[in-house]
Amino acid sequence: MQALTNKVKVVSREPMTWMERMYLPAILKGMAITFSHIFKKRPTINYPEKKRPFSPVFRGLQILNRDEEGREKCTACGLCAVACPAEAITMEAAERQPGEEHLYKEEKYAAKYEINMLRCIFCGFCEEACPKDAIYLSETFAPSNFQRKGFIYGKEDLLIPHPVEEPETFAKARGSRAKHPEGHGNEH
Ligand code: SF4
Ligand code: SF4
Repeated sequence: MQALTNKVKVVSREPMTWMERMYLPAILKGMAITFSHIFKKRPTINYPEKKRPFSPVFRGLQILNRDEEGREKCTACGLCAVACPAEAITMEAAERQPGEEHLYKEEKYAAKYEINMLRCIFCGFCEEACPKDAIYLSETFAPSNFQRKGFIYGKEDLLIPHPVEEPETFAKARGSRAKHPEGHGNEH
């Protein structure tokens, strides 16, 4: 029969020799391979005690940004939702009331902001579309969950901690991708 590829290996049907019936050479060959791996660098790590560093281009969970005074930057313009190819973002806009200037940077803000992490493909288009530097993708990922509704992330999950009231958790959540003191960088 003609072979379709050159990868065909012809199986020998010859009866085994005395040496082959001992199986000893095959066992020694297998043990040699096993021992050779003892001295090689282990490709596995003890997660979660140890974690691999993320690639500089890794795009993970979204963060809703605040300014240096802790005011929410999002102005609920909806450009991120329009840019999102997965239609993962929904929001409801509200008007800032007198006396709320310390909470919201712009006159309009997102009263509700949700990202469906089951839809999100972490493309980063929402970050690119945002004119207010109000959203960026961080170096962490959405933890696993047993329920689908657990993957709908609301503002309380996405909003970065307050930089003045909780400076330590803010610095930890901010990560190294937010390069500028004001945030991640494409505000106009
Ligand atoms: S990263 Fe991409 S898919 Fe995910 S919310 Fe942003 S635009 Fe949508
Ligand atoms: S995150 Fe940015 S693009 Fe999206 S609604 Fe807020 S200000 Fe607009």
